[in-house]
This record gives sequence, structure tokens and C-alpha cells, in this order.
Amino acid sequence: MSRVYNFSAGPAVLPEEVLQEAAEEMLDYRGSGMSVMEMSHRSKVYDNIIKEAEADLRDLMGIPDNYKVLFLQGGASQQFAMIPMNLMKNKKAAYIITGQWAKKAWKEGQIYGEAVAVASSEDKTFSYIPDCSDLDIPEDADYVYICENNTIYGTKYKTLPNTKGHTLVADISSCFLSEPVDVTKYGVLYGGVQKNIGPAGVVIVIIREDLITEDTLPGTPTMLQYKTHADAESLYNTPPAYGIYICGKVFKWLKKMGGLAVMQERNEEKANILYDFLDESKLFQGTVVQKDRSLMNVPFITGDKELDAQFVAEAKAAGLENLKGHRSVGGMRASIYNAMPKEGVEKLVAFMREFEKNHA
Ligand SMILES: *Cc1c(COP(=O)(O)O)cnc(C)c1O
Repeated sequence: MSRVYNFSAGPAVLPEEVLQEAAEEMLDYRGSGMSVMEMSHRSKVYDNIIKEAEADLRDLMGIPDNYKVLFLQGGASQQFAMIPMNLMKNKKAAYIITGQWAKKAWKEGQIYGEAVAVASSEDKTFSYIPDCSDLDIPEDADYVYICENNTIYGTKYKTLPNTKGHTLVADISSCFLSEPVDVTKYGVLYGGVQKNIGPAGVVIVIIREDLITEDTLPGTPTMLQYKTHADAESLYNTPPAYGIYICGKVFKWLKKMGGLAVMQERNEEKANILYDFLDESKLFQGTVVQKDRSLMNVPFITGDKELDAQFVAEAKAAGLENLKGHRSVGGMRASIYNAMPKEGVEKLVAFMREFEKNHA
């Protein structure tokens, strides 16, 4: 067996320990005589798995009792519709456009009501987070929507927007569990798990109870109502059972590592290794304004497309995979999620140094 350093933006690297454990339990989950993939989601064994996963997530994030945790399907993208369908009572919401995912959510919101773009960083290819301290938010907006970490562009909100009393809704797909978070500042936090937590196909929604109502937009399907899933504790229908089981293992791994404050320290240390090099390099440069840099996704360029392509190919040959940047930014992107070890980032920087020397 040989594993590479996988810098993919998602689906992305998972802790090796977790994969190992899942492999050991694959054919016979703890004496049940079957794989978690094969068991009823109504069984006692599975009930323990999903309950424990929720309890561990609550513990890690310090989720207050008046918030529900929902394990749903449809990926992060399904939330682009589910949020307005469930929350747009006044048919109006404010969106802050900091990248493609925020823009897609905004576009989807326009199907259901007046989705107002109150700020955007599109003028500079989303390379910064706009000033959100005094935005012109409509009085009757049902919520303010953000994408907290912009996976494609490598920016992250370091302070949350001043929502002027409105409910904050955040897509945290690519910064989920990367650092401590104050859940009480949000009405809804959600994320697809394939960036930092588990296998694609699971989306976790953390939602304040008073936002879960029967008063959804007319025509909202049963499956797209938060209330359906909250009432049934994520077991209204068959959940993405195996995916949730892996998420649960990752939560345990995070707890064993010391929790989110320790993860933040580790993530800062890893990101600094890469950013410090980018700041001193004469060949490579980061594409994001310094104050808004993400700890998870680090885009960089040489300024020469052919050299970028050569770098990506040579890095792959050296066991550093999936470094090609998103087509809208070009160049490279290193995603360095929780499960990326520090050695992976050190290897990457050593490789970049060598590449720079050879192309001076
Ligand atoms: C990947 C990603 C999405 C899309 O996730 P899907 O599960 O594929 O729908 C949405 N938002 C952000 C921030 C992402 O990184």
C-alpha cells in the first residue's frame, strides 16, 4: 500500500486511522456479523452510531440545546434551495457574494423570493472578503447568507458580518471543524462533509429550533422541510447511513486529537508554513489578500500557465496530488484540511523550493 499526499479540495483526505478502523470493521461491525452498509437504519446498533455521532459533534462544537443537528442528503448544494424554502417568510434575503458557491446560493434564492446581493468581491476575482461592518441590509430580510470559507478562492471571513439583528446563515463546508466556532452567532450552519469530515453524500445542518417551522413556502416537498428531519431525528427515511458512520469516526478522531482549539493551532501552523514560503518566494505567489487568507484552501500561481501545468505534473510524480487550481483562478491550489499532516505541507514546500531553484 502506498498513499499519496492528497491536496484535493473535495472529496478530500481523511485521517488514515479512521480509514484503517473502517476497514477493520468492514465485514463485521463489532460482532453484528454485518457491515454498517448492510444494516437497518432502524436497528439498535445503527441507532447508537447516529446518536453517538450527534453527541460527539455537539461536544466538539459546543452546540447549544436549542439547536438541532440534522444529517441530510443532497450535498451542500441542496441547501441552496432548502434555506429559502424554509426561511424566506418575507420572501426576502440578503446574500454576500464571495465566490462561486455563494453566487450559486444567491441564484437559487432568486427562484423563491427577492435575493438581494448586499456585497460582493467579484470585482477582484473574489480574492478578498468585502467589508461587512455596515451593509445595507433590507429591514425585512429573513436572513443574511454567507459562504464562510471560499473553497475555490481561498478566502475566509475572520469576523462575521454585522447582520444588524438578522439571522445569519452560513455555508461552512470547507471550514467545518477546522477551528472553534460560536454556534450562537448563527441561525443556520451547514456543510457538505466531503471537504473536512467524511464521504460525499452527507450534509450536516445545525439549525436553531425557532427557525424550524411548518410555515415553509407553498409547494416545499416533505423531504426539503427541516421540520420533517428534525421531528424524525434524521431518520425520516433511510439516511446516508455509512457516510454518517464515517463522520462519527472523524468526530472521535478530532476529540482524541484534543478538539477544535488544537485543530486550529495545527491548521495555523500548517498554513503558515505554506504562506510564509509564498511570501518569500520569487516564483510563486498567493492570490488572496493577506488578511482574508483561508487556513484550508491555499491558491497560488507562478504567473505562467505552462509553468503552472509543469509544476502540477511534476508534483504529482513526486506523490503530491491534486494541486491543480480551480479553472476560474488557474494556477495551483493546496487544500490542507484537518487530516493533512504537517509533513505533507512540509514536503510540498520543499518541492516548491526545489522547483523554484530549477526554474530561476
Ligand atoms: C464543495 C462545496 C459546495 C458544494 O458541495 P456539494 O456537496 O457538492 O453540493 C458548496 N459550498 C462550498 C463552500 C463547498 O466547498
